[in-house]
Amino acid sequence: MTTMRDTADLDAAVLALNAARSVTVVCHVQPDADTVGSGLALALVLHRRGIPVWVSFAEPAELPMSMTSLPGVRHLVAPAEVPAEVDLLVAVDCGSAGRLGALVDRLSGATTTLVIDHHRSNTCFGAINLVDPGAESTTSVIAQLLDAWRVPIDPDVAHCLYAGLVTDTGSFRWVRPGTHELAERLLATGIDGADIARTLLDTHPFGWLMMLSRVLGTAQLAPDVRGGVGLVYAFVRRDDVDGVRSEEVESVIDIVRTTAEAGIAAVFKESRTVPDRWTVSLRSRDSGRGTGDGIDLAEVATALGGGGHRFAAGYTAYGTPDDLVGALLAALG
Ligand code: AMP
Ligand code: MN
Ligand code: MN
Repeated sequence: MTTMRDTADLDAAVLALNAARSVTVVCHVQPDADTVGSGLALALVLHRRGIPVWVSFAEPAELPMSMTSLPGVRHLVAPAEVPAEVDLLVAVDCGSAGRLGALVDRLSGATTTLVIDHHRSNTCFGAINLVDPGAESTTSVIAQLLDAWRVPIDPDVAHCLYAGLVTDTGSFRWVRPGTHELAERLLATGIDGADIARTLLDTHPFGWLMMLSRVLGTAQLAPDVRGGVGLVYAFVRRDDVDGVRSEEVESVIDIVRTTAEAGIAAVFKESRTVPDRWTVSLRSRDSGRGTGDGIDLAEVATALGGGGHRFAAGYTAYGTPDDLVGALLAALG
């Protein structure tokens, strides 16, 4: 895998962006603030340079409500409006081509393709791959790219980059040397970090509390999994999510994963539309001995047809709750 240690990738990305006369930016399906923040930051910069740019994601039809206040949302278009042919297609925060969903067909209509990402499981499906598995967020990779491109970061771009940074670091819990330096740089542009975090992470309707009470009631603890590492899991069934947004559904894993008796957490989320289809969120943590000995979930999720990072990964599965748990236990070994 190419990494950012290779500045050749950065140079190639800058060359491609400078050469492009039209650009499509594709975010991953079921978009989060990292993929959308990355896409909109690029769109703001390209638009300012007079380059026609389209940003899109294949599904769902609507942008999650918490992200509608991100600067640059005017550059978002429906999948049908994404041109078939373009100079440069950029995929942001997508570990594999499958994460583009139905927009995967636009890859072949692009003269060149650039993948910007931070997933360990990235398949490097672009002509140019700017993939830094050590980066906290794809927006961090975009910040490195803007520096190499000598594009200054203004408040609107900073807002988009901060959105990905604060969410993918779990509000600055999963950090590395340099994370706070980037946060400081973005905050120094004058953006309101507290407001961005509150909007993206800390605002739920009252119905969320009712949903949580039902969903957390399904939680099960399997302490013997993986020789005593332990698994905790819960189900978000279709009937539980009436009247709540994807933001509420995605919040559940952050509660379940805090269980002290389990090193691995899973939340099975039933599709609102397709029977027996579930998306699964996985999280792990190390033992706290500082040895980084947690289960590598990127591997587990990839074996189940998905992907992700070492400590956060996901996949899509079909079947009954018993089938789902059985398959996960088998993959965990
Ligand atoms: P989530 O639990 O949805 O927040 O996802 C955790 C991580 O796993 C994110 O980095 C996702 O990009 C990745 N991921 C989730 N679902 C999939 C999937 N079906 N295929 C590949 N990667 C996924
Ligand atoms: Mn993402
Ligand atoms: Mn990300």
